[in-house]
Amino acid sequence: MYDVIILGAGASGLFLSDFLKNQKILIIEHNSSIGEKIKVSGGGKCNITNKDVSYKNYYPESEFVRNTLVKCSNKDLLKWIKQKGLKVYELKPGQYFFNSSKEILNVLKPNCKIIYNCEVLDVNEGFEVITSKGIFKAKNVVVALGGKSFKKLGASEKGYEIAKKFGHKISPIKPALVGFTIQPKESWFKRLSGISVMADVYVKNKKFSQNILFSHKGITGPAILNASLYWDKGKIKIDFLRGKKVKDHLKNKHKQIISQLPFPKNFTKEFLKSVGIEDKKVMFLKNQEWDRLKLLENYEFAPAGTFGFERAEVTKGGVVTDEISENMESKIVKGLYFVGEVLDVTGELGGYNFQWAFSSSYSAFLGLSL
Ligand SMILES: Cc1cc2nc3c(=O)[nH]c(=O)nc-3n(C[C@H](O)[C@H](O)[C@H](O)COP(=O)(O)OP(=O)(O)OC[C@H]3O[C@@H](n4cnc5c(N)ncnc54)[C@H](O)[C@@H]3O)c2cc1C
Repeated sequence: MYDVIILGAGASGLFLSDFLKNQKILIIEHNSSIGEKIKVSGGGKCNITNKDVSYKNYYPESEFVRNTLVKCSNKDLLKWIKQKGLKVYELKPGQYFFNSSKEILNVLKPNCKIIYNCEVLDVNEGFEVITSKGIFKAKNVVVALGGKSFKKLGASEKGYEIAKKFGHKISPIKPALVGFTIQPKESWFKRLSGISVMADVYVKNKKFSQNILFSHKGITGPAILNASLYWDKGKIKIDFLRGKKVKDHLKNKHKQIISQLPFPKNFTKEFLKSVGIEDKKVMFLKNQEWDRLKLLENYEFAPAGTFGFERAEVTKGGVVTDEISENMESKIVKGLYFVGEVLDVTGELGGYNFQWAFSSSYSAFLGLSL
C-alpha cells in the first residue's frame, strides 16, 4: 500500500514528488521517460515562469487561482530554482528560461519508485489504480495526467475520464495557445507565410501587443496564441498600426503608399491587393480608398477554427474547480487530488502554465502532508 500514487510524470507530478519526501510514493507514467513536454518547452529552454504572475493571466479568472498563487507564487518558484542550484535568464521581456530544459529535468528526476511504459487504465474507490502492468493500491491518488494537447508527447484524456467517474464535472475542453485557421476572405494571410509583424490583437476584453506570424495554415505567433485562450467563436480584431492612424503614416502626398507604411513590403502589397487598392502616390487616393486603408487600424475577422489539439500548447477546460478544495483535493472523494493542466485552469503564454503546475502541486503537497 502506497501513501500516494501520482498518475503522470509530467511537470506537476514531478514537482509534487519533489515536495513529498517522507511518504511512500509511486509514480506511474506511460512514456519511457519523464517530462516530455518540459523537454521541448520554450524551444528547448523551458519558459518556467514570468516576472508578473496574477490570476488575471489565467482563464477562467477565479478566486481559486488567485488563492493558489498567493500560497505559492512566482517568487516561491524562483526561490525553489535557486535552492536547486539552477539559474534562469530573462530571454524575453518578463519571461524566465533555463539555458536548457535538461537542467530542470535533471533536478526533477524522482527519488521515489517510478514505473515507466505503464498505462493508467482506471482508478477504483479505495484506491486501486488499474494499469497495463498490474493493480497498485494507495491511500491517496493524485491525478497529474495533464490535458489532451500533443498526443505525440504522451497526452491523453484519462485524467478527465477518472474525474468523471468519481462524479466531477468537466468543462468543455478545447485547444488553446494555438494558431487560427482562416476563412477564404483572409486567404491573403497565407500568401504571407513566414512573415511576422508586431500588432495589437483584441479578443473579448483582452489586448495582446506582440508578434503575429502568418503561416501556410493561417495565422499564429505569440499574440494569436494568447488570443486563442480567450476566443470561442466570433471575431477578433487586429490593429496593425498599434494605436496610430493610417494618416499618421501617409503624411507625404507625393510618395507611394507602400514606401510610407511601417511594414515589410510584401505585407503591404498583399494587404493592398486584398482591399483592391493599387500602390500609388497618396495624393491620388480616393475617399473610399482611405476608408479601406483604415482596416489596418481595425481589422476584424472571424477565425475558421484553430490548428487543433496536435498543435496546441495547452488544453483549456477540464475538471471544474468549484468541486476542488484549496489543497487540490476532490470535495467529492477524500484522498483524490487533481493538479496541473487537467484542472479547468489555463495560463497565457509566458511561463504561466509551469507556474500553475508548480503552485497547484505545492497546494496538493500541503494537503497530503496534513
Ligand atoms: C510544445 C509545448 C511547449 C510548451 N512550452 C511551455 C513553456 O515554455 N512554458 C509553460 O509554462 N508551459 C509550456 N507548455 C505547457 C506545459 O508543458 C503544460 O501546461 C504542463 O506540462 C502541464 O503539466 P501537467 O503535469 O499538468 O501535464 P503534463 O506535463 O502533460 O504531464 C502529464 C503526464 O501524464 C502522462 N500520461 C498521460 N496519460 C497517461 C496515462 N493514461 N497513463 C500514464 N501516463 C499518462 C503523460 O505522458 C505526461 O507525462 C508547453 C506545452 C507544449 C505542448
